[in-house]
Amino acid sequence: MSNSAIMRLRAHHVCCMPFWTGAMEGRGSRFEEKEAAIKALFRSAADRLVAVTEGVDELCSECPLCVDGRCASPDGDEDAVRKWDTILLSELSVDFNTRLTCRQWRDLIELKLPYKLCRRCRWQSRCRVGSSLKSAD
Ligand code: SF4
Ligand code: SF4
Repeated sequence: MSNSAIMRLRAHHVCCMPFWTGAMEGRGSRFEEKEAAIKALFRSAADRLVAVTEGVDELCSECPLCVDGRCASPDGDEDAVRKWDTILLSELSVDFNTRLTCRQWRDLIELKLPYKLCRRCRWQSRCRVGSSLKSAD
C-alpha cells in the first residue's frame, strides 16, 4: 500500500483503535502488523486520508475472524459490529463513506470523547479512554 492511498476502515477502528492498549490474541502476525500500522497512521500521518467503510475493512481482511466478507467474532458478529459502527458515526455526526484526513478525524474525535458508547463498552479495561472512565467512577 502506498503512503498516499486512502485507508478504508470501519468506524470503530477509526474511533477506538488509536486508544486500544489490549492485545488481540491469536489473530496472527499480518493482523498485528496492520493494527500497528493503523495506530502509527493516526499518530503521525496527519494528512493521510481515511474513509469509513460500511462493513469489513483493511484490518478485517487480515483477521482470521473475517469469514466470507463478514465479521464472525464470538464477541460480536457482523450485525452487532455494524450496529456499533453506526452508533459511533452518529456520535461523530458523519456518514459512512466519509473521507477525512487523520488530523481531521483526530480533531473530531477529540471533541466527542468519551463517546456515549464507552459507558457500556465491554472493552473499557483494554482502552485508554475506557480505563480513564473506570478510574473516574
Ligand atoms: S473481522 Fe471482526 S474481529 Fe476481525 S477485525 Fe474485523 S471487526 Fe474486528
Ligand atoms: S471504551 Fe470502548 S467504545 Fe470507548 S473508545 Fe474504548 S474501545 Fe472504543
